Amino acid sequence: MNDFKFNENLYKAVDFITKEKFEKVILPQEFPKKGLGENTLKIMASKVLGEATYLDSPLVFAHMDPPTPWIAWAMALWNARLNQNLLHKELSPFATQAEESVIDWIKGFFGMDGGHMCSGSSIANLTALWVARDTKNIDTIVASESSHISIDKAAKILNMKLIKVPINNDGSIDKKSVPNLKNACLVLNAGTTCSGAIDDFSLIGQAKWTHIDAAYAGALKFTSEYSNILNGIEKADSISLSAHKWLYQPKDSAIVLFKDNKKAKEVMSFGSDYLSSANIGIQGSKGANGVVLLATLLYFGKEGIDRLIAYSLKNALLFYDKLKEIEQIEVFNKPICGITLFRPKNMAVNEFLSKLPKGMFSKCKIKDKEFVRSVALNPMADIDEIVKFVNNVLK
Ligand SMILES: *Cc1c(COP(=O)(O)O)cnc(C)c1O
Repeated sequence: MNDFKFNENLYKAVDFITKEKFEKVILPQEFPKKGLGENTLKIMASKVLGEATYLDSPLVFAHMDPPTPWIAWAMALWNARLNQNLLHKELSPFATQAEESVIDWIKGFFGMDGGHMCSGSSIANLTALWVARDTKNIDTIVASESSHISIDKAAKILNMKLIKVPINNDGSIDKKSVPNLKNACLVLNAGTTCSGAIDDFSLIGQAKWTHIDAAYAGALKFTSEYSNILNGIEKADSISLSAHKWLYQPKDSAIVLFKDNKKAKEVMSFGSDYLSSANIGIQGSKGANGVVLLATLLYFGKEGIDRLIAYSLKNALLFYDKLKEIEQIEVFNKPICGITLFRPKNMAVNEFLSKLPKGMFSKCKIKDKEFVRSVALNPMADIDEIVKFVNNVLK
């Protein structure tokens, strides 16, 4: 058993088990001429709450999308009510301060000097590579074959050449195949999207700029037990982190951090006569996700966040141990950061997945080999139940 009993009340408001109880309604086919008024709520409850996948269901173990704690829902609702725009500091005094506090509290875990929030690590990666290109006069990005598609997008948008480096069997960058980095920005993964592999951080510093894509596994830095997995990350020039992944935030919440934030700002600041202060980064109007993250950090404290993240990882390790006991299963990797890949020995991955509840697992490919993928971000996952399902399918 995982040693830390998770407090279920953090998550449950609408019980996923009662979701079938929502009355079935039909969504109007067309934009109604007359407004539906309060009836809207009935339709939307039936649709939005009644037809969702509940990420806190005990059988959901598939993706990097966590269930969100109630404190985050409350803050998200207040945010929607107030609709503060961080583009205008004078109209969002506390929201601006909330983001500054969050960045201030988080940057130290990564040895960075500052940064800002943005809507996802796709944007964070683009932002960091933009700054890298313009401060260092770089025209090439070097990244492994298992890098996230957002790196391909950034290269295309920024008109930079992208060199893809082959990977080792675990999905991490093959150090021997890294080309000359003299005029390049090197992107290393702290947790690849497919297998959670962590690239060799001894490569940091060999390029003109090193960006760490820690969208997923950056959260390990908040744990006492596992933060050393990311040792060396503090030597990077920039880091991306998706708070809507392993920091249990609602979307769209992410952070880009810089070693030299002042210099980075010189590239990313745009003034305009209708703005009281310069617009920094890619987004213009920007919501107050810092408020939600700040509340979450206050609610749990350092110790609570540590336990929450470590709890997920321990669940993954528990699942890994149980998978290894199943003879008809080939396990691909020990989950260093919560992702476990495996495959049935005598059944195709697609067939296996089709026999299981939707949302239990996802799939991915490494070197053209397909795997079942589990991501342990749901603290409510019931490992014993999930393993029972796996065994039943293999029978
Ligand atoms: C999820 C992910 C991204 C993209 O982050 P979004 O927040 O979805 O935009 C980038 N890199 C890695 C490694 C990821 O796992």
